[in-house]
Amino acid sequence: MEYYSGKINQLIEELAHLPGIGAKSAQRLAFYLLNQPEENVKRLADVIVDAREHIRYCRECYTLTDREVCPICSNENRDHRTIMVVENTRDLAAYEKTGKYEGVYHVLHGAISPMLGIGPGDIRLKELMTRLQQDVGEVIIATNSSLEGETTAMYISKLIKPTGIKVSRIASGVPVGGDLECIDEVTLLRALEGRVEL
Ligand code: ZN
Repeated sequence: MEYYSGKINQLIEELAHLPGIGAKSAQRLAFYLLNQPEENVKRLADVIVDAREHIRYCRECYTLTDREVCPICSNENRDHRTIMVVENTRDLAAYEKTGKYEGVYHVLHGAISPMLGIGPGDIRLKELMTRLQQDVGEVIIATNSSLEGETTAMYISKLIKPTGIKVSRIASGVPVGGDLECIDEVTLLRALEGRVEL
């Protein structure tokens, strides 16, 4: 990339850090941006900075939101006694897209992975246990079916069992190692409806 000037190289390098963007895509994006009217580029930059500054965790479920309590948790028509545990906000969005789940969520922001050195203390598990002191009827564990997701599901079910709260796991119709967000809505619904009590 030495044939580009310093600032262009810098832009390409920054873009190449984004997930799923390789060197070629980064170059294409960089030149696309450079060919846009200045105000368009500025608006994009402002939106990114503004989102980063104002997005925070929901006080109840820890999903990313720009409010203190997210729209799902503040919706009184949702069933607040059913909590679905997911690994991240994208998984939550995948279930929301089905339009059929009426409970609320708990977002862990990760999964337990001894290999990567991620332990129970590194995800939002303590916060989940605190929530369970309220009136909760069922916890549905919807972590991915990867090794980390399964490890996390086992760990959570062992933690919750003594409380007497019903714990279930979404059905294994979700392909092993499958990212929840890449799975179609029908498969997700089937996984939810076919959940088994742990
Ligand atoms: Zn929330």
